[in-house]
Amino acid sequence: MSKKHLCNCGKLAVWLYMPGYENNENSFVCDDCVDRGCQCNYYSIREEDYNPPIKGGILPTEEDYPIKWINDYTWTKVDEKGREYPCCEYTYNENGFNIMNWFERKIIYSKLFTSIRFFIYNFKHKNKKI
Ligand SMILES: [Zn+2]
Repeated sequence: MSKKHLCNCGKLAVWLYMPGYENNENSFVCDDCVDRGCQCNYYSIREEDYNPPIKGGILPTEEDYPIKWINDYTWTKVDEKGREYPCCEYTYNENGFNIMNWFERKIIYSKLFTSIRFFIYNFKHKNKKI
Protein backbone atom coordinates (compact mmCIF):
# COMPACT_ATOMS: atom_id res chain seq x y z
CA MET A 1 0.00 0.00 0.00
CA SER A 2 1.22 3.42 -0.88
CA LYS A 3 1.69 6.10 1.71
CA LYS A 4 -0.85 8.92 1.55
CA HIS A 5 -0.40 12.66 1.73
CA LEU A 6 -1.38 14.13 5.09
CA CYS A 7 -2.84 17.44 6.13
CA ASN A 8 -0.72 19.74 8.31
CA CYS A 9 -2.89 18.60 11.26
CA GLY A 10 -1.81 14.99 10.66
CA LYS A 11 -5.10 13.64 9.27
CA LEU A 12 -5.51 12.03 5.87
CA ALA A 13 -5.73 14.69 3.16
CA VAL A 14 -8.74 14.33 0.87
CA TRP A 15 -8.48 17.74 -0.80
CA LEU A 16 -5.67 18.91 -3.04
CA TYR A 17 -5.17 22.55 -3.94
CA MET A 18 -4.26 22.05 -7.60
CA PRO A 19 -2.39 25.28 -8.35
CA GLY A 20 -0.06 24.52 -5.42
CA TYR A 21 1.67 27.16 -3.35
CA GLU A 22 4.69 29.18 -4.40
CA ASN A 23 6.40 28.78 -1.04
CA ASN A 24 6.23 24.96 -1.21
CA GLU A 25 3.55 24.84 1.50
CA ASN A 26 1.60 21.62 1.85
CA SER A 27 -1.23 21.75 -0.69
CA PHE A 28 -2.90 18.61 0.71
CA VAL A 29 -5.66 19.29 3.23
CA CYS A 30 -8.06 17.17 5.27
CA ASP A 31 -11.85 17.54 5.22
CA ASP A 32 -11.88 19.52 8.47
CA CYS A 33 -9.12 22.02 7.74
CA VAL A 34 -9.95 22.85 4.12
CA ASP A 35 -11.19 26.42 3.51
CA ARG A 36 -14.85 26.34 2.62
CA GLY A 37 -17.11 28.86 1.01
CA CYS A 38 -15.90 30.40 -2.20
CA GLN A 39 -17.65 32.71 -4.62
CA CYS A 40 -16.80 30.39 -7.48
CA ASN A 41 -19.46 28.01 -6.11
CA TYR A 42 -22.11 30.71 -5.70
CA TYR A 43 -25.08 31.12 -8.02
CA SER A 44 -27.43 34.05 -8.26
CA ILE A 45 -31.10 34.21 -9.19
CA ARG A 46 -30.67 37.82 -10.35
CA GLU A 47 -30.01 38.09 -14.05
CA GLU A 48 -27.99 41.30 -13.64
CA ASP A 49 -25.36 39.38 -11.66
CA TYR A 50 -24.22 37.73 -14.87
CA ASN A 51 -22.41 39.25 -17.79
CA PRO A 52 -24.04 38.81 -20.24
CA PRO A 53 -27.22 38.71 -18.10
CA ILE A 54 -28.89 35.30 -17.74
CA LYS A 55 -32.66 35.62 -17.86
CA GLY A 56 -34.07 34.71 -14.43
CA GLY A 57 -30.56 34.05 -13.10
CA ILE A 58 -29.62 30.48 -12.18
CA LEU A 59 -32.16 28.66 -10.02
CA PRO A 60 -31.28 25.54 -8.06
CA THR A 61 -32.54 22.35 -9.66
CA GLU A 62 -33.40 19.11 -7.89
CA GLU A 63 -29.88 17.81 -8.57
CA ASP A 64 -28.31 20.76 -6.76
CA TYR A 65 -29.84 19.96 -3.37
CA PRO A 66 -28.92 20.19 -0.55
CA ILE A 67 -28.32 23.92 -0.94
CA LYS A 68 -27.84 26.90 1.34
CA TRP A 69 -28.92 30.51 0.74
CA ILE A 70 -26.07 32.98 1.27
CA ASN A 71 -28.45 35.95 0.97
CA ASP A 72 -31.85 36.61 -0.63
CA TYR A 73 -30.58 35.92 -4.12
CA THR A 74 -27.33 33.88 -3.79
CA TRP A 75 -27.24 30.14 -3.19
CA THR A 76 -24.62 27.41 -3.10
CA LYS A 77 -24.56 23.63 -2.89
CA VAL A 78 -23.65 22.06 0.47
CA ASP A 79 -22.52 18.56 1.41
CA GLU A 80 -24.51 16.10 3.52
CA LYS A 81 -23.19 17.83 6.66
CA GLY A 82 -24.49 21.19 5.45
CA ARG A 83 -21.00 22.49 4.74
CA GLU A 84 -20.14 24.65 1.78
CA TYR A 85 -17.64 23.28 -0.73
CA PRO A 86 -14.06 24.54 -1.09
CA CYS A 87 -12.97 26.65 -4.03
CA CYS A 88 -13.18 24.92 -7.41
CA GLU A 89 -9.38 24.91 -7.48
CA TYR A 90 -9.47 22.05 -4.98
CA THR A 91 -9.87 18.49 -6.21
CA TYR A 92 -11.40 15.84 -3.97
CA ASN A 93 -10.50 12.20 -3.46
CA GLU A 94 -12.23 10.37 -0.61
CA ASN A 95 -9.40 7.79 -0.53
CA GLY A 96 -6.70 10.42 -0.23
CA PHE A 97 -3.72 10.95 -2.48
CA ASN A 98 -0.86 8.49 -2.81
CA ILE A 99 2.70 9.58 -2.26
CA MET A 100 4.31 7.90 -5.24
CA ASN A 101 7.60 6.12 -4.91
CA TRP A 102 10.04 6.02 -7.84
CA PHE A 103 8.67 2.68 -9.10
CA GLU A 104 5.07 3.93 -9.29
CA ARG A 105 6.26 7.08 -10.97
CA LYS A 106 8.11 5.01 -13.56
CA ILE A 107 4.96 3.02 -14.37
CA ILE A 108 2.84 6.15 -14.75
CA TYR A 109 5.41 7.84 -16.98
CA SER A 110 5.82 4.81 -19.20
CA LYS A 111 2.03 4.57 -19.60
CA LEU A 112 1.97 8.25 -20.44
CA PHE A 113 4.69 7.88 -23.07
CA THR A 114 2.90 4.92 -24.63
CA SER A 115 -0.31 6.89 -24.98
CA ILE A 116 1.54 9.88 -26.41
CA ARG A 117 3.26 7.64 -28.97
CA PHE A 118 -0.10 6.11 -29.82
CA PHE A 119 -1.63 9.54 -30.23
CA ILE A 120 1.16 10.68 -32.55
CA TYR A 121 0.86 7.49 -34.57
CA ASN A 122 -2.92 7.97 -35.00
CA PHE A 123 -2.42 11.59 -35.87
CA LYS A 124 0.09 10.82 -38.64
CA HIS A 125 -2.08 7.99 -39.88
CA LYS A 126 -5.14 10.20 -40.08
CA ASN A 127 -3.30 12.90 -41.97
CA LYS A 128 -2.10 10.38 -44.57
CA LYS A 129 -5.68 9.40 -45.35
CA ILE A 130 -6.68 13.04 -45.87
ZN1 LIG B 1 -6.35 18.93 8.77
